[in-house]
Amino acid sequence: LASGPAATSELFEVSSPNVVYTDNEIKSKYTYRTTSVTKGNDGKFVAVPKETVYDFKVDRKIPKTGVMLVGWGGNNGTTVTAGILANRRGLTWETKTGEQAANYYGSVLMSSTTKLGTDANTGEDVNIPFHQMLPMLHPNDLAIGGWDISGMNLAEAMDRAQVLEPTLKQMVRKELAAMKPLPSIYYPDFIAANQEDRADNLLPGSKACWEHVEEIRKNIRDFKAANNLEKVIVQWTANTERFADLIEGVNDTAENLIEAIKSGHEEVSPSTVFAVACILDKVPFINGSPQNTFVPGAVALAEKHDAFIGGDDFKSGQTKMKSALVDFLINAGIKLTSIASYNHLGNNDGKNLSSQKQFRSKEISKSNVVDDMVAANNVLYKEGEHPDHCVVIKYMPAVGDDKRALDEYYAEIFMGGHQTISLFNVCEDSLLASPLIIDLVLVTEMMTRIQWKNTSDSKDYSGFHSVLSVLSYMLKAPLTPPGTPVVNALAKQRAALTNIFRACVGLEPESDMTLEHKLF
Ligand code: NAD
Repeated sequence: LASGPAATSELFEVSSPNVVYTDNEIKSKYTYRTTSVTKGNDGKFVAVPKETVYDFKVDRKIPKTGVMLVGWGGNNGTTVTAGILANRRGLTWETKTGEQAANYYGSVLMSSTTKLGTDANTGEDVNIPFHQMLPMLHPNDLAIGGWDISGMNLAEAMDRAQVLEPTLKQMVRKELAAMKPLPSIYYPDFIAANQEDRADNLLPGSKACWEHVEEIRKNIRDFKAANNLEKVIVQWTANTERFADLIEGVNDTAENLIEAIKSGHEEVSPSTVFAVACILDKVPFINGSPQNTFVPGAVALAEKHDAFIGGDDFKSGQTKMKSALVDFLINAGIKLTSIASYNHLGNNDGKNLSSQKQFRSKEISKSNVVDDMVAANNVLYKEGEHPDHCVVIKYMPAVGDDKRALDEYYAEIFMGGHQTISLFNVCEDSLLASPLIIDLVLVTEMMTRIQWKNTSDSKDYSGFHSVLSVLSYMLKAPLTPPGTPVVNALAKQRAALTNIFRACVGLEPESDMTLEHKLF
């Protein structure tokens, strides 16, 4: 796909002595206010307000950007590609319930708003599209490409996916038929054996080797040149792999990982090989599946090369509900005592997950999502206490991509009473995941254009840490910089994203205190 011109123009300007606009940049001085807490010998906390001043600098020029998907011919890959084409062309199509127009529903950036401030005259909230908080890339302008172990062109792969309406498929068919995934790397032991029959588009070799790294780097360079792009972002939306064993001397350091690839070690997964190839060229790499692509050596390599990485596992249906609902329950003072999560799905992802080792990756990714919320409430939960939590996934071909997620939340309420919440969520998996793929690209690209520094440091500006924890809202098992806390609560994740973007233009977080309306 060739990309078109940047579509966004800036919707607002900040008028403040702390914010300067130049032709190419927005520069701001932002005071970050936190509370530092210590505990005295008497057990009493002392809370001290703390201020740190940062200088932010945002590059206003939106680069021509492309996304390359690993697993392009899968359900997510074909759905997101057809969806972007349909939006770009402003398509409408007939369905049994009437005419449907292309949209970006489910994308927090494209279809949600955020409060900019309060109207100076009426006192009403002024809300703007999230996408316009900063000068951001528009998904319609993305060039799209990628790899798949299945050689089907995207039109046939879209049929195989059974996600989109026939009328829409007809309208995008010609363009999709001209798109063919690049051959990929296939190390059979990492994905389910039942995937073997689609693996017909392969680079030679069945375990890690340096030629694979170099070929992927070349593919990215060629894609960039062919589409005249300034930036490329790569995302793994291929099958869930089994976890790689963490082995000292193999994947524990950046150097050992490189050596392990060169010597063809069997514990290096295809997703880690893709990650390494991207990191070496500072191409951001996001992992949308649950496996441990980012072994310690891969994270260390990203830090060494100042390359962005993000992961793991798209947070689309059941877990997104969970990270909102559990946050609500525990913060309402209700003691959640068990969560039973059951799914059945009939797409190729479900088929792959019917194999035990791949299911295990998903189980781990789905299991830790309430930990931070539980740990934060020491009124309800004693140290080490945790709700029971179990996750079941079954393959049921007939339901296709319309995953069923059934959840029972069982909680203790006032005076020994109980509340039971049962959810039945029909997820339309790929239609929920595709907007997340778009959001991950948009936010990641934006992060490559933000520089900052502590004002009191003599050091020059630098970028954010290699591990982009700001992507957490879209991800089930958020990767964070080594040694830093993981936040799973959905509202906190959204607030972090919003407020970091606000800080970039020198604006305070919206506190929702609305004091201006409360003084009698
Ligand atoms: P899918 O099986 O339809 O697509 C995966 C594609 O990856 C297939 O076309 C397969 O041929 C290809 N593939 C496998 N190994 C490859 C490799 N080494 N290189 C290149 N291509 C390879 O699955 P999907 O429904 O599109 O989901 C993709 C991934 O996203 C899965 O791992 C899934 O667990 C994860 N995920 C999906 C959702 C969601 O759809 N709602 C949510 C969270 C995570």
